[in-house]
Amino acid sequence: MSRISFEKGIEKFKTTPLEELQREAAAVRNQKNPKNRVTFVIDSNPNYTNICNADCSFCAFYRHPGAKDAYQKTVDEALKSVERAHQAGCSTVMMQGGLADYPLEFYTELVRQTRLRYPSILPHYFTAPEIWNCAKVNHLSLEEVLQALYDVGQRSLPGGGAELLSERVRLTISPKKMAPGAWIEVHKTAHRVGMRSTATMMYGHIEEAEDILLHLDALRTLQDETGGFTAFIPWSYKPDRTALRRKVKDWVGDVAYLRLIAFSRLYLDNFDHIQASWFSEGVEVGIKALQGGADDFGGIILEENVHRATGFVHRADISHMLRYIRQAGFTPVERNCLYEILKIYDSEEVLVPVAQAVDEENQLAIISRKRS
Ligand code: SF4
Repeated sequence: MSRISFEKGIEKFKTTPLEELQREAAAVRNQKNPKNRVTFVIDSNPNYTNICNADCSFCAFYRHPGAKDAYQKTVDEALKSVERAHQAGCSTVMMQGGLADYPLEFYTELVRQTRLRYPSILPHYFTAPEIWNCAKVNHLSLEEVLQALYDVGQRSLPGGGAELLSERVRLTISPKKMAPGAWIEVHKTAHRVGMRSTATMMYGHIEEAEDILLHLDALRTLQDETGGFTAFIPWSYKPDRTALRRKVKDWVGDVAYLRLIAFSRLYLDNFDHIQASWFSEGVEVGIKALQGGADDFGGIILEENVHRATGFVHRADISHMLRYIRQAGFTPVERNCLYEILKIYDSEEVLVPVAQAVDEENQLAIISRKRS
């Protein structure tokens, strides 16, 4: 299939019927990935601070310094979440926070101690705005920050903070946050120092089709240059308890998500993995996305506070994950955040709880493992 141009992409995105997009996307997905398999990760998404001064209008998670429920953890306090993830059998922890004033040593120590104490966990830490903020606060270049993190063992950067890589959109929803070009620059630099990274998109607010294409085009162009992205992960905006809600008429719905998954599989012709997020869109829609272009089902996400701040909570353990993936007609395959295969679940297995982890609001999550 030849590459879809920006102009043709806009037309295709707007006019091609969903079933046709999904059929094409499923065919491409099967060329790039084993057609009977779907990957997932056992992970946790804790936070080290909710203090932030960016005032993004779509965010219900942040607090200003001095707010009664603001928190700023030390390295040891943040590592408690990693310890819980370790006990629960996670292979990946995505640690992120607001844009607070921390010295570089906080970030490097968090990574160093994670690698030292929990060698089986890959630190998938700090989104592009946090890296940008760390460089600014500590008067360093992006390369100096990312190289320092690489030197203590970080190999992967999460894609959060991209939202919509369109300056028009940013000026409305998060004018104090880094510009789209700066998000790209952080990821380009991360790839240069030897890290891989994921690419995300938060859509379903004020964007037009052109903004979506601008975003996908920026990702495709950087991927041509570096090949450093592992996967593309879109999710829809969750309006509850956010300031942006006043400007957004309705939640965009399931069809918009399925169109985006299928179209991104076609447009991002240099990406291997497209993630269907059961967590952000619900299991039923996630399963449909697996049948329409996606090859990955995301993580079980032991701990999560950003979506929860909007009142949006989904929970699953490994046994749910295996059931959902099988229900969609695929063999579940466990991976880490570098998309390295850890285990193929190619037979029906008896799963029993081997660890229980209590998150910060004392909600119980049970991680199930095969009886040995
Ligand atoms: S999305 Fe991130 S940068 Fe924006 S206000 Fe929330 S925590 Fe701060």
